[in-house]
Amino acid sequence: MWKGPPTGSHCVDSSLVPHVYSFDHKHRRSPMEYKDLLGGKGANLAEMTSVLKLPVPPGFTISTDACRAYMKGGWPAGLTDEIAKQVTKLEKAMGRTLGDASDPLLVSVRSGAKFSMPGMMDTVLNLGLNDASVKGLAAVTSNERFAYDSYRRFIAMYGRIVLGVDGEHFEHPLEAAKSAANAKTDAELSAKVLKELCQLYKKVVREQTGKPFPQDPTKQLRGAVEAVFASWNGARAIAYRVRERISHELGTAVNVQAMVFGNRDELSGTGVGFTRNAATGENKPYGDFLINAQGEDVVAGIRNTETLEDLKRHFPKIHAELIDIFDRLERHYRDMCDTEFTIEQGKLWMLQTRVGKRTGAAALKMAVDMTKGTKGKAKWKISKQEALMRVAADHLDQVLHPQFSGRGVVLAKGLAASPGAAVGKVYFTADDAADADERGEQVILVRSETSPEDVHGMMVSQGILTARGGLVSHAAVVARGWGTPAIVGADMVKIEGKQFTVGDIVVKEGDIISLDGTTGEVVLGEMKLEAAEPPIEFTIILEWADQVRKGKLAVRANADTGEDAANARELGAEGIGLCRTEHMFLAPDRLPVVREMILADTVADEEASMSELGRVQQIDFEEILEAMDGLPVTIRLLDPPLHEFLPSIEELKIKQATAGLSAREDKELKAAEDWAEHNPMIGTRGVRLGVVKPGLYAMQVKALLAAAAVLRQKGKNPIVEVMIPLTVTREELALARSWVQTEIDDALKGMKKKPDITIGTMIETPRAALCADEIAEEADFFSFGTNDLTQMTFGFSRDDVESRMMPAYLEQGLLKRNPFETIDQNGVGELVRIAAERGRSVKKNLKLGVCGEHGGDPESIQLFYDAGLDYVSCSPFRVPIARLAAAQAIITRSGAGGKFETK
Ligand code: ADP
Ligand code: MG
Ligand code: MG
Repeated sequence: MWKGPPTGSHCVDSSLVPHVYSFDHKHRRSPMEYKDLLGGKGANLAEMTSVLKLPVPPGFTISTDACRAYMKGGWPAGLTDEIAKQVTKLEKAMGRTLGDASDPLLVSVRSGAKFSMPGMMDTVLNLGLNDASVKGLAAVTSNERFAYDSYRRFIAMYGRIVLGVDGEHFEHPLEAAKSAANAKTDAELSAKVLKELCQLYKKVVREQTGKPFPQDPTKQLRGAVEAVFASWNGARAIAYRVRERISHELGTAVNVQAMVFGNRDELSGTGVGFTRNAATGENKPYGDFLINAQGEDVVAGIRNTETLEDLKRHFPKIHAELIDIFDRLERHYRDMCDTEFTIEQGKLWMLQTRVGKRTGAAALKMAVDMTKGTKGKAKWKISKQEALMRVAADHLDQVLHPQFSGRGVVLAKGLAASPGAAVGKVYFTADDAADADERGEQVILVRSETSPEDVHGMMVSQGILTARGGLVSHAAVVARGWGTPAIVGADMVKIEGKQFTVGDIVVKEGDIISLDGTTGEVVLGEMKLEAAEPPIEFTIILEWADQVRKGKLAVRANADTGEDAANARELGAEGIGLCRTEHMFLAPDRLPVVREMILADTVADEEASMSELGRVQQIDFEEILEAMDGLPVTIRLLDPPLHEFLPSIEELKIKQATAGLSAREDKELKAAEDWAEHNPMIGTRGVRLGVVKPGLYAMQVKALLAAAAVLRQKGKNPIVEVMIPLTVTREELALARSWVQTEIDDALKGMKKKPDITIGTMIETPRAALCADEIAEEADFFSFGTNDLTQMTFGFSRDDVESRMMPAYLEQGLLKRNPFETIDQNGVGELVRIAAERGRSVKKNLKLGVCGEHGGDPESIQLFYDAGLDYVSCSPFRVPIARLAAAQAIITRSGAGGKFETK
């Protein structure tokens, strides 16, 4: 779903509404509903504080409004005062003041956008410490070591995150101090050493920034808040938003919260907990926990964590309290939640919760489980519609993609840029990859980065691995567009000529590696791939989806062979929305016959080759119609420009200049030159081809009808829809229709119960969409070819644009989405709506479908449903996703899905 800019609050004159809200602020609705304003973390902290009354350290949230105002015009007027008021309130509540030299209040500063976003600014802990207050902290805790440890962590964190000092400048003195003190871990450093480290760190800050480390807590706070705001437009954050389709306009909130210390002593600790198992979906709380630790220690993996069972052994009361909180959270959010908690000297504090992320298998299991209801006194359950809304396309993708069977030795890890598993031989240039592909090898292309010059190599690769680049790098965008597994930014991979190394391991050209584009793992050697075996809940959820969809929005597949058709039917397709007959023409045994037809000098030659083509087409049609017996099959008549079937002019020219050409080759060269076009995609193709090569379409229809007749004789029920490509005028379609109708009349002559064979057209150009009313007069159905419609509406040649300019356009926000992946709502989408409406204004029962790749994209499916389409058609492997997305589109409009977000 496109996470667009918020509506509501930001339309109000922002100088009139507050920019800062304490966690216990009384909002008109439940705080959870103000994620736009408070960000996800802030909204949930407020929800836990004011609605659930859980033990949350007090604090306040600086709203996304403030961030947006900051991005537009710098630090908002009045914000300093508002923050000061909230700090005073917080100080009162805590009985301590920020920077106090005897007993200081310390706070954390935490970023938190509407959607959780790695790549945003890291959290700063222990803010408020300075040369005076560190002494106070040491005195009240009677723990000098703790105080100086907190201070040196703060200076380093603040220096790195807020002041932009390279982390190495802090790591080196720390390492030096450890080796001087002969200490293995940080924990062994004495108070004295830590004190010295603080001095060193302050020197580092002065040297690196030219200014002393800020001592005034108010200045520290202002600096941290501003750094969070600024991090919204950091490169990592932008890249993440592009991939996750989050609007660049949302802005982030900033949470300022009183510190609690899990690193006080052995009665303290910190952990993360899930109300159910996020990996398997099992209905059992799960968590990791560390005694005497702070903040990120648990996820950083410095020490081995303990489990919730261990927590129960150490602190049974706290464990019971936590489990009770888990129950309340689930009941309240009606979903699995994840949490962060800290124990300070025997008291439990909740630091964060949200509806938790989960794997595909877990999402399916939880959704189904939760419809059955919980046990215990306060029961709750969700409806089937809600369950359907909680499973995302990515979840289905995960359980459907082939996976490695078993685990291998992970060589390197990069960014998971495009899902799926791939195995192949390593090649380092696009040319080498293309050559290896010619030899019939499976190829993995390994490059530092890719560029448009590499596209021919990327195209033939099973998988792509790059050492550099992020999630919107060229490699990532192109691979995702094609569904090719890819890992990018694996920076431990060092490429040197035709080999790469990771540590001591050398991988040479031709060696086999395996990529898991879902986890980002590069494995040495060949991993066996196993077809995913989806869990039982997969079938259950899709059955529920089908019940919702029934009679409202059908799902068909694009399939060109009997095998694809059977596979699609297995995955739940309810017919074929697009069968491309040119694929049959390109088969090695057919191509020579097609060439004969193009080269034919005489009518007789042409007829001979056409009837041979007709014979083989009939065989293909029989297989497809049989696989889809009883379901509609849309056959598209020949669409691509004829030169696609002829040999390359360049190759023939080279041969002409060297070895010389045979008489036949000479003819082929002339034909290829004759048919060559400057802009083939808008040249002599589609119905235009039918017009200049009379008899071609008639031949195809004859073969089709003959195939249907054979099946009918076998007692089957073929349902045929004949589709004319690329028509732009009524007259054109009327002419093409007449050829088809003649064949039909011919074939069905004398039959008693004549089968209903419909004739329709693709809508692929802006003119066809705008003139849909006139075209509808001659059509029984429309099928939107949204790939071409997108190319022609934008004037983008996909082959050129997607690889060359799309990454730059997405990164700079010039396009919010790649319009070839998700339909452009305002332009192309509007044309679809117009065509649907104008078409039906002439013919009420005009059947409408879509057969572009958008037919398998959830967000586009919503638009197609809203536009009144009868079906979507997509590649077979997307069919389950389309079934779910179609149901979700219907539920969304009915409002029965609940208001809880899955992300
Ligand atoms: P992220 O969004 O990356 O999880 P958080 O803001 O949640 O970042 O904070 C990072 C770590 O710091 C977490 O482990 C969190 O529990 C801890 N933390 C944040 N605020 C406080 C606080 N007020 N007291 C103690 N620990 C805190
Ligand atoms: Mg957190
Ligand atoms: Mg097309």
